[in-house]
Amino acid sequence: MSSEKRYDAIKSVAELTSDVRVAASPASIDIYGEDVFNFAAMQKHLPKATFEKLQATIERGAALDPEIAGEVAHAMKEWAISRGATSYTHWFQPLTGSTAEKHDSFLEPDGCHAILSFSGKNLILGEPDASSFPSGGLRSTFEARGYTAWDPTSPAFIKRHGNGATLCIPTAFCSYTGEALDRKTPLLRSIQALSGAAKRLMACFGLPDEKVTVTLGPEQEYFLIDKHFYLLRPDLLQTGRTLFGAPPAKHQQLEDHYFGAIKTRVLNFMNEVERELWKLGIPAKTRHNEVAPAQFELAPVFEELNLACDHNMLVMEVLRQTAERYGFVCLMHEKPFAGINGSGKHNNWSINYGDRNLLNPGSDPDENAIFLTTLCAIIEAVDRHADLLRAAVTGVGNDHRLGANEAPPAVISMYLGDQLSEVIDQLEKGGHSSRKHGGTLRIGVDTLPPLPRDATDRNRTSPFAFTGNKFEFRAPGSSQSCSGPNVMLNTIVAEAFDRMAETLSAFPKKEFNAQLQKHLQKVIKEHKKIIFNGDGYAPEWLKEAAGRGLPNFRTTMDALKVLTREDNIALFEKYGVFRRREMESRYEVFMEEYHRRVRIEGEVALEIARTMIYPAASAEFEALVRAIGEAGAVNIASGVKSLKKRAAALGAELDALARDEEALAQALPKKHENILAAVAGLRETVDELEKMVPDSRWPLPKYREMLFVY
Ligand code: ADP
Ligand code: MG
Repeated sequence: MSSEKRYDAIKSVAELTSDVRVAASPASIDIYGEDVFNFAAMQKHLPKATFEKLQATIERGAALDPEIAGEVAHAMKEWAISRGATSYTHWFQPLTGSTAEKHDSFLEPDGCHAILSFSGKNLILGEPDASSFPSGGLRSTFEARGYTAWDPTSPAFIKRHGNGATLCIPTAFCSYTGEALDRKTPLLRSIQALSGAAKRLMACFGLPDEKVTVTLGPEQEYFLIDKHFYLLRPDLLQTGRTLFGAPPAKHQQLEDHYFGAIKTRVLNFMNEVERELWKLGIPAKTRHNEVAPAQFELAPVFEELNLACDHNMLVMEVLRQTAERYGFVCLMHEKPFAGINGSGKHNNWSINYGDRNLLNPGSDPDENAIFLTTLCAIIEAVDRHADLLRAAVTGVGNDHRLGANEAPPAVISMYLGDQLSEVIDQLEKGGHSSRKHGGTLRIGVDTLPPLPRDATDRNRTSPFAFTGNKFEFRAPGSSQSCSGPNVMLNTIVAEAFDRMAETLSAFPKKEFNAQLQKHLQKVIKEHKKIIFNGDGYAPEWLKEAAGRGLPNFRTTMDALKVLTREDNIALFEKYGVFRRREMESRYEVFMEEYHRRVRIEGEVALEIARTMIYPAASAEFEALVRAIGEAGAVNIASGVKSLKKRAAALGAELDALARDEEALAQALPKKHENILAAVAGLRETVDELEKMVPDSRWPLPKYREMLFVY
């Protein structure tokens, strides 16, 4: 019977879970950063002058002195060898969404011996044969090479496997003509753009030139399911999500999983993940159960944006690999289970000017003025470019999540919380308002009422929420690289900062505060339509949002189109973040990926329906029909009526299944909408069948098994 494998899987998990009481070796804080060529390692292995030059590049963004590359490479190699590495790779982030590596050993044959060597050139530049990475036409075949270039601001690290280790050098990935083929290059450019704009804006407040640091703390959600079940689900194997599966009676409605005690087996896994991450100098901090059964979250302490993005790529990799070692599979898909919460990646973002967090309301009037100016600029940026933020979080997986009942809606709006909204109101109404707490708020003169952090953080339905000293962009999907959303955010805020700086720099010194007040009033009036503190899940909100003129792109296809709009291309060109061809190529790559994934889902669904579901259901039908016949042959009347009723009902679903299969087969060569609709139709029938076909015949592990047996 087809479910034997399923029952075996359940048995195996039961045996496994009864045997995981032994804790993995606990993480010691001493291991933190031991596999990173960090400040301490550089100091130890580099000559003093070289060390200082390299630090200047890392800390202050000074141009890298090519002269020192040889010494840095040598020191890196010595350090890596002392940590057990024998190979190195340039580690980069092509547009596939994951990371890429091409390993070379340090080996250099020397007569009948060999030595280990690593040159400055090997460090600075790599030439992977890159013709198979998506480039959206940026690399015609005659210039198929891509170049990887060392990013000294993200430290090299060591990746370990069973019997060896590899030195990984974070790099940017470009074409022969200098076009970005990756996610890191535009990110670095956008950080530079925002940094410049922040400096221009802060100069208006008379602040001296300081280092600008964009910060990111990404909260990573994921599911864990037992590998035994995973291997019996071709849909999970091939698409990362279940294309079929009826929601079980109990799933998340009791909310008994959220923040609940973590199962020992999972805790062991989490401990191991932390150990691996700490070795890599990744400050994993928070771990807990999420809302859905078998769903969890990991949050690190925030870091500088470029580093945080690299680290999040490693977090996802470590989660996946460690899961394998513990007999799990880590699902990073945005919506692996229909009807059950999906997974996102909350993007906590802020900007520091020197030591000052520009999104910290501060305690004196001058700090408040800077905070409110920054805030108003961000309000303007998000209102002007909500569509770009939406475009940054597109993808087949996230399409299923956004707008579902637990994730932010596809309409981008901004949540400020009651207190801050009141401040903004007062600011807008200026002299005419009566403040709750007396008088009119005057910029640069009054202090803000204290904004308690907790009170700002409780609206979970907003896609873009102010949470005390940072903005939390909640629309990004769990599997997505952090780069895309932050490239957008940095660029649109850079533009808004520049507009603000241009206006402010014209104010006479004596009237600065009064004029600033007036200008912020104007900005608020113009852009407050983006602010929404209510329930983002409420259907009325979608209507109201439409009334306010906020864009609502429900699908990837609609959302991506804004990348090709002339004004957007001009914006990214102005800030040197994307060239026109780079924007066009991204549009092409993302569209193509979307189409391919939709088609794969269609093909997998059809195959499962034909080769697993139909046979199981028709075998049951046959058995029923045979029983009816045999009962008749021996003149038994009782039971036949109910058998007939079941056979008829099952027969009707079998016909429906055959019809839906045919519809999907017809849709496959057509457009993505047709395929998506056909897969959804087929799913309804299959999920209905799951409730009718005997458990002992059902071939696919059920939701209740995947979500509760681990
Ligand atoms: P939550 O209630 O959403 O769990 P937390 O306070 O735990 O909020 O923060 C979530 C994430 O935000 C963490 O990764 C944290 O390090 C990060 N974070 C905190 N302050 C900042 C900041 N100034 N810039 C960027 N991220 C930050
Ligand atoms: Mg959060």
